[in-house]
Amino acid sequence: LQAGRADNFGAGPTGLPVSVLERIMQEGLSYQDSGMSVMEMSHRSRWYDAIQASAEAGLRTLLDIPDDFSVLFLQGGASLQFSMVPMNFLAEGKTAGYVTTGSFAKKAFSEAKRIGNAKVVASSEDRQFTTLPELDGAMLDPDLAYVHFTSNNTIYGTQWKDWPNGIRVPVVADMSSDILSRPIDFSRFDLIYAGAQKNLGIAGLTVVIVKRAFVLEHAISGLPSMLSYKVHLENDSRYNTPPVFSVYVLSLLLDWVKSLGGLDAMTARNEVKANLLYKTLDQSNGFYQGVASTEARSLMNVTFRLQNPDLEPSFLAAAKEAGFVGIGGHRSVGGCRVSLYNAVELEQVQRISKFMEEFRAQHTQ
Ligand code: PLP
Repeated sequence: LQAGRADNFGAGPTGLPVSVLERIMQEGLSYQDSGMSVMEMSHRSRWYDAIQASAEAGLRTLLDIPDDFSVLFLQGGASLQFSMVPMNFLAEGKTAGYVTTGSFAKKAFSEAKRIGNAKVVASSEDRQFTTLPELDGAMLDPDLAYVHFTSNNTIYGTQWKDWPNGIRVPVVADMSSDILSRPIDFSRFDLIYAGAQKNLGIAGLTVVIVKRAFVLEHAISGLPSMLSYKVHLENDSRYNTPPVFSVYVLSLLLDWVKSLGGLDAMTARNEVKANLLYKTLDQSNGFYQGVASTEARSLMNVTFRLQNPDLEPSFLAAAKEAGFVGIGGHRSVGGCRVSLYNAVELEQVQRISKFMEEFRAQHTQ
């Protein structure tokens, strides 16, 4: 299976580990003793019961999720969470705070404004999102319904390392592009969410991890059922048909992370990969220029430009020719972006790093 596979550095959906793809193929026609594929089976079957339980247990073990948090398997992408969060938690007369650190953070903010009062409490937009804003949690209005962060800014390549201290209001975070890449301190959050198609498998599934009391004591009632966290919580994520195949892939992926040694091993592996690529940028005598400021650099999305922008099209074309997929910057910003999600192997980063050094050598006198 390995032969003929591209080096996929796309920002999402992204590559899966080969061993996970192999298991999907092995179990493709008949899952265990069911006589059918997971794609074909009822979400109320005993096989799916076990798959969902395994996905939840895997997340709980790897992320060390406290018992007072619930895990929900939803649909609609992270983008639906931009709306569901304010629908459930932004009561009339209250204001929600948004930290705008990139395009998705801004989208979350604009969806909140459709629902109720929302304001920006910190932003790095004045620095073209190349860094993260200073934020003293203690300065936040204690009356905010919640404050919303984006833990990793996929398009600009910045990532929160240390969370602001002293926040006294509920904290919600979009972790779509770095969940499962490093440990999460749940004492700092009330709700986190992530579209699955980067580090949690394939599109179609959105994972929400939420403090039960936040929902039971604060969620607004009377919402359409599918938009209510309480309804999903009370129905074990099976109020309607869940994305069974995406949950199955998640369960396999979690087994794979466990087999590599869990989240600490994953963090170490991600640091080695990112350090190698940032070193390639930093030691290029300015030929490649990192977009994100050094202290805010993401371990998941490495964004850079060529000092000579006229060379960018030929750089991207040569990279494509060499078998590297998905390294053009987001269409809204251009430039280059190499995404290093969990499934990317160190050897792949070594390959692209070597390619970048060779390209530089060819284009410098
Ligand atoms: N939030 C972040 C940080 C993302 O990177 C993305 C997609 O790339 C989204 C939200 C949107 O996710 P979805 O396509 O699942 O709605």
